[in-house]
Amino acid sequence: MKKTAIALLALLASGASLAATPWQKITHPVAGSAQSIGAFSNGCIVGAQALPLQSDTWQVMRTDQRRYFGHPDLVLFIQRLGNQVHNLGLGTMLIGDMGMPAGGRFNSGHASHQTGLDVDIFLQLPKTRWSSSQLLKPQALDLVASDGKRVVPSRWSQEVSSMIKLAAEDNEVTRIFVNPAIKQQLCEDAGTDRDWLRKVRPWFQHRAHMHVRLRCPANSLECEDQPLPPPGDGCGAELQSWFEPAKPGPTKPVKKTPPPLPPSCQALLDEHAL
Ligand SMILES: [Zn+2]
Repeated sequence: MKKTAIALLALLASGASLAATPWQKITHPVAGSAQSIGAFSNGCIVGAQALPLQSDTWQVMRTDQRRYFGHPDLVLFIQRLGNQVHNLGLGTMLIGDMGMPAGGRFNSGHASHQTGLDVDIFLQLPKTRWSSSQLLKPQALDLVASDGKRVVPSRWSQEVSSMIKLAAEDNEVTRIFVNPAIKQQLCEDAGTDRDWLRKVRPWFQHRAHMHVRLRCPANSLECEDQPLPPPGDGCGAELQSWFEPAKPGPTKPVKKTPPPLPPSCQALLDEHAL
């Protein structure tokens, strides 16, 4: 085979496996006053900040992916929660994906994390710091038993429970996604102080990390918030429905065409993703 053909094949193969999105071409935040634009699963961000990679109170995982950018509010939130967790002696927070420099869709993983307002945080709080090689290839700790109904008691800790509660009590936080089994455990552990549980939402996967979402910043006029979660602690029928067998119905999800980008995000792509 000719060299050019091999090179072309290699290029095609790498392109296919990575399924690159144009957002990956933007390697630095777009200058400007911070603006989260659009919806969590269809948006972008101007004026993102990088989370400081050196910190006494948290460690950043998979920095080679460069997904440690977000709205300044998100950076402040991580600093705030990291300090609380650290000062209570709960351990060191492990930070996973935030967003890309200009937000937008990742090539793999999640659909959201597009507006610089989402962050994944591991549900383990090591007392000693991880080495750089551990951080580059982090070992996720699966907290959920194989039946999907309970957490594994030996892997569950009061420290992690406290971290989730602290995050939920933060005013900027609107939702925290965890596996239904983890929500169930939180529901059982909570005493009479239960208001914070409203923000903790059961969702698929999320067995080793929590996904924290912030409200739209006040001056991000094109940012689209979600409706608030339903009132109450969410520990009743809604949570139980996650543990029931799936109802019969269409097995194949209907494939929807993705909505068009918000015009401001399209303009940003046209200008910067060259
Ligand atoms: Zn996430």
